[in-house]
Amino acid sequence: MGMDHNVYVGAYLEIEAPITEYGSSRCPNGHAYQVGDFCPRCGAQKETVMVSRPARLWDIFADNENLTELNGEGIKESHILAVGNLSDKPGKPTHLRIVAQGAGQWPITPDMVEEYCDNFQEQYAEEIECLKDAMLKHQINFGVVFCYWY
Ligand SMILES: [Zn+2]
Repeated sequence: MGMDHNVYVGAYLEIEAPITEYGSSRCPNGHAYQVGDFCPRCGAQKETVMVSRPARLWDIFADNENLTELNGEGIKESHILAVGNLSDKPGKPTHLRIVAQGAGQWPITPDMVEEYCDNFQEQYAEEIECLKDAMLKHQINFGVVFCYWY
C-alpha cells in the first residue's frame, strides 16, 4: 500500500458522515489486533461484537469509484472530504493541476472558485444525487486540503 502526502487545491465535497455499524471479531478478554478464530494470547474463541463508527465514503458508495476520500490527521472524523477521481473534462476544471517539480504560480480568482464548484457539481451530479437521496448533509467547498492519498 502506498501512501503519499498531497496538497489538493480545488472543489471538493464535505459530507457529514452518518454512524455505521459493523461486526468485528474480537477476543472476549480484550486482546486486540489478532487474526484467526482463537486468541493467540489467551486461547479464547473470538466473538463478534457490533462496533459503530462514522461511515466512510466506501460505505456510502459501495461500487462507485468516481470519488476518492481524502484522509488526514486534521480532518474531522465525522466529516468525509471527497475529491473527484475522474479526469476533468476539457475546459471544465475542478481543481488545480500542480506539478511538483520546478517553480510555478497558480493564481486563484473569485471567478474560478464559482466556476470550479459548478464544474464539480456538474461532473459528479450522480454522486451528489445519491447523497441527497440518502439525506446526507453535504456541501461543495473550494479550498486547499492537505491530505493522505492511499
Ligand atoms: Zn485473548
